[in-house]
Amino acid sequence: MVAQETDKTAKVCVLGATGSIGLSTLDVIQRHPDRFQVHSLTAFDKHQDLFALCQRFSPEFAVMVDPDAAQKLEHDVINAGLATRVLSGSEALVQVAADPEVDIVMAAIVGAAGLQANLAAARAGKKVLLANKESLVMSGELFMKEVERNSAILLPIDSEHNAIFQCLPGTYRCGSVMKGEVRRIMLTASGGPFRGFTRQQIEAVTVEQACKHPNWSMGQKISVDSASLMNKGLEMIEACWLFNIQPSQIDVHVHPESIIHSMVEYQDGSVLAQMGNPDMRTPIAYGLAWPERIDSGVASLDLFALASLHFERPDHEVFPCLRLAEQAFNAGGTACATLNAANEVAVAAFLKGNIPFHKIPDIISRVLSVAPGHSVDTIHDVLTADHLARQLAEEEILKLCSSVSLVSL
Ligand code: NAD
Ligand code: MG
Repeated sequence: MVAQETDKTAKVCVLGATGSIGLSTLDVIQRHPDRFQVHSLTAFDKHQDLFALCQRFSPEFAVMVDPDAAQKLEHDVINAGLATRVLSGSEALVQVAADPEVDIVMAAIVGAAGLQANLAAARAGKKVLLANKESLVMSGELFMKEVERNSAILLPIDSEHNAIFQCLPGTYRCGSVMKGEVRRIMLTASGGPFRGFTRQQIEAVTVEQACKHPNWSMGQKISVDSASLMNKGLEMIEACWLFNIQPSQIDVHVHPESIIHSMVEYQDGSVLAQMGNPDMRTPIAYGLAWPERIDSGVASLDLFALASLHFERPDHEVFPCLRLAEQAFNAGGTACATLNAANEVAVAAFLKGNIPFHKIPDIISRVLSVAPGHSVDTIHDVLTADHLARQLAEEEILKLCSSVSLVSL
């Protein structure tokens, strides 16, 4: 259970500590040594990065999923005389996320790999700061049930969902039914680096262009998702589970400046917006200190310098991923786990240069149409659908690669 608020400092487990969100979280934590103490840090295989963080924060545990990298980290930690205990393997992620000493879990692993540890944090009744949207996309209903059953506190870190949460009444808790007073959610999207592109232009984009987001500095996978608008599709699903609503109650607004992070419209016509510079330390600081507010290191917003804000409708023809996500949510059962897995495989293939960017939605659409849909009763159902969708997506990519090489012959 969440430790008593009277404790001097809250102990934090940062899952995905070497990533973009992980590092921003540690930046905020370092500004408040009186409030937060790092209990555990985890990463996949960047042992040098994790070692540097161990030197800075002296955590009780450091988890390196990759066993070879874990050995190297342990060697460095012992040589440096640090008291940090090094653990290895994905079971260790679950162990630290559920450790009775931990008060707050920052869920910032990218992709489906974060699911089990996030669930463990929810089951252990932690304050869960959820950046990893994929776990909620895959297993929304199960995840929200675990949160409720174990009295965990779920706080959204994704900037849009954090904004919505901030615009809802202070008594609102994620997962509960919103009262009739809310008319709709206005989910903002930057539009990504290819906003305004034609289908033809999209066919020629490179990995470097896709990873260069105009406003946010993020990991590669979410950068590609933002470029394809799948990020907004995943966020639509995420919003449905977090706020207990349907896609029909969400209006996506492309807002290229990324200053308004989302809005809530009430029955009386009032629209509440949360604004700020595009810097993830704002939602992270909000989550860490909730219900209080603390300094995040983010600069003040200069609206005079910005002068104007713009809004557009999303282009569903050039960016079909948003609609694919909506269709998967409406289909229910395992469809969202299938969508997520197919997307992860397609994005990885694009990043490796194996498929062109515009084939990402084609692969996802094909996998969604061939994968059998099932109801979700247990996490096993989710993991089975994830596994099968990955196989199907790999097959689609192979077919694509062979047809491309036949054409080029
Ligand atoms: P990132 O790629 O920068 O970092 C990912 C972290 O996960 C790293 O620490 C890495 O070591 C770890 N990791 C990767 N694969 C792993 C595996 N198989 N097992 C265990 N750990 C693994 O990613 P990011 O941009 O920080 O995004 C993290 C999550 O937060 C994603 O789900 C993303 O959608 C979400 N998010 C990110 C941002 C952002 O601004 N970066 C904004 C909103 C939401
Ligand atoms: Mg977001």
